[in-house]
Amino acid sequence: MTLALGEVTLDRVVEIGRSAYPTTSMLPDSTPEALARHHAWLKPDFWDDAVGDLGARIQTWIVRTPRTTVLIDTGVGNGKARPDSPVWHMREGAWLEDLAAAGLGPEQVDVVLCTHLHVDHVGWNTRWDGARWVPTFPRARYLFAGEEWEFWKWEAASGREPYGCIADSVVPVVEAGQAELVGATHAVDPWLTLESSRGHTPGHVSVRLRTRDGEAVFPGDVMHRTVQVAEPQWSSRFCWDPRAAAATRREFVERHADSGVLVLPAHFPRPGYVVREGAGHRFVPAA
Ligand SMILES: [Zn+2]
Repeated sequence: MTLALGEVTLDRVVEIGRSAYPTTSMLPDSTPEALARHHAWLKPDFWDDAVGDLGARIQTWIVRTPRTTVLIDTGVGNGKARPDSPVWHMREGAWLEDLAAAGLGPEQVDVVLCTHLHVDHVGWNTRWDGARWVPTFPRARYLFAGEEWEFWKWEAASGREPYGCIADSVVPVVEAGQAELVGATHAVDPWLTLESSRGHTPGHVSVRLRTRDGEAVFPGDVMHRTVQVAEPQWSSRFCWDPRAAAATRREFVERHADSGVLVLPAHFPRPGYVVREGAGHRFVPAA
């Protein structure tokens, strides 16, 4: 899948093609009956027939502007001890090979951007070199929102970060001198800019892309499942502040409805557009 938007190209690497969590578990306020009311527009584009549930991915977006090659979110990673999650634990996935198939070796990545520092967004920041965790991308600057880093640094230091992902996937980048703490409205280059979208985590950011032929946005985990476009009050079980997350989500949906802005969330099975329908909203797939 390569999308062109003006002078910028977008690709993705799917690391894991399915969520470990059924939608009713991921979105605790949802019910099978309430979900079923949306099946007509969710199927088939956003549906996974194999599990009879909404589709979900863990994936990395690749953005190539005329100046910068950027990775947005880096999945779970290989070889990491995640004993609570069989699919994540000591993975031996082909993510690096798939990145190469998309035309990128590790040394060609200029910027790594994590929308937030959850375990499924930081994994490939580092790889095991036989002795220790080292940055996977030797030339890259890794941009972390300062507020996000400060929060998770404290959570990790006080034993409240449950996976160990700060220790094995973020701290080694900081210690290697490749981390750059940035403000929530940082401009990466003339095409890419961060925007605050807090709620899922304290320093969550989205990434805005502006090109001569239109706009796109990478909202990370502002939404986890496509149905949240229509039910923005449903926050995920992993939201740090579910009320703030819902307010951010509602604002996001309103702002982008019928805007023509391409929306590429971290976990949706495909990108698309927010459209108004009646009093509510839907998501339609990008062609
Ligand atoms: Zn996530």
